[in-house]
Amino acid sequence: MWIDTHCHLDAPEFNGTGAQVALRAKQRGVRSIVVPAVCRANFASVANLGQFGGYALGIHPIFVPKAEEADLQFLRTSVERAMSDPHFVAIGEIGLDFFVAELCTPEMREKQAYFYREQLRIAKDFGLPVLLHVRRSVDQILKYLRQIGVPGGIAHAFNGSQQQADMLIKLGFKLGFGGAMTYTRALQIRRLASTLPLSSIVLETDAPDIPPNWLEAGQNSPEQLPQIAEVLAQLRGISLDELASATCANASAVLPRLLALPPPS
Ligand SMILES: [Zn+2]
Repeated sequence: MWIDTHCHLDAPEFNGTGAQVALRAKQRGVRSIVVPAVCRANFASVANLGQFGGYALGIHPIFVPKAEEADLQFLRTSVERAMSDPHFVAIGEIGLDFFVAELCTPEMREKQAYFYREQLRIAKDFGLPVLLHVRRSVDQILKYLRQIGVPGGIAHAFNGSQQQADMLIKLGFKLGFGGAMTYTRALQIRRLASTLPLSSIVLETDAPDIPPNWLEAGQNSPEQLPQIAEVLAQLRGISLDELASATCANASAVLPRLLALPPPS
């Protein structure tokens, strides 16, 4: 059994078929899918699709330019309400993106940092883990994590250094690996995926993004997770069974509300 800890089932690429996609993935052994939100407008749809596993609420850095102060208040009241929903598992997807040019002006860097900090505070207030988007921003991500302090979470699609990975792990984080490690040229990611402690790794597809090397852009789906996992098992020289049980245990440990869910039927 597998857990896809990061999948945008509500993305337009799925044409509203997220529920069917989740069921097909389940037939392939993906027992749980965590669906992160990206902006206030998709909170309702991720809550809906989160019934196939879990969901998170938050404002993604790419959506920060259009976000308003009122969205943070809306997030807080949505989280308050979602706490009684057993499928609600985390705050996310939040973070900092210093790669996309539009997000790198001084004002946007400041606005991103503000939304990131405020959302960490919401996570802290409700005792929730966070799903982090980290792109050319690990040091800043770490700085605010240390300042504010949240009960851990997942650094999704991790692509930093060994040292940065160690610091995140120390702060209670797991690192998400997916399609990127299926490319033989992704030396750094493959090295990390094969040498980090197994206890710090979770699997994800980030579908429909980050296709594994056997798919075209935009065709990724959670059904690919077992095949992506095979690549990791090979890199680490361990069996699929060992990888499956370790990564599921890691996901449940870092997302305790997911662990509390009744087993899927
Ligand atoms: Zn994402």
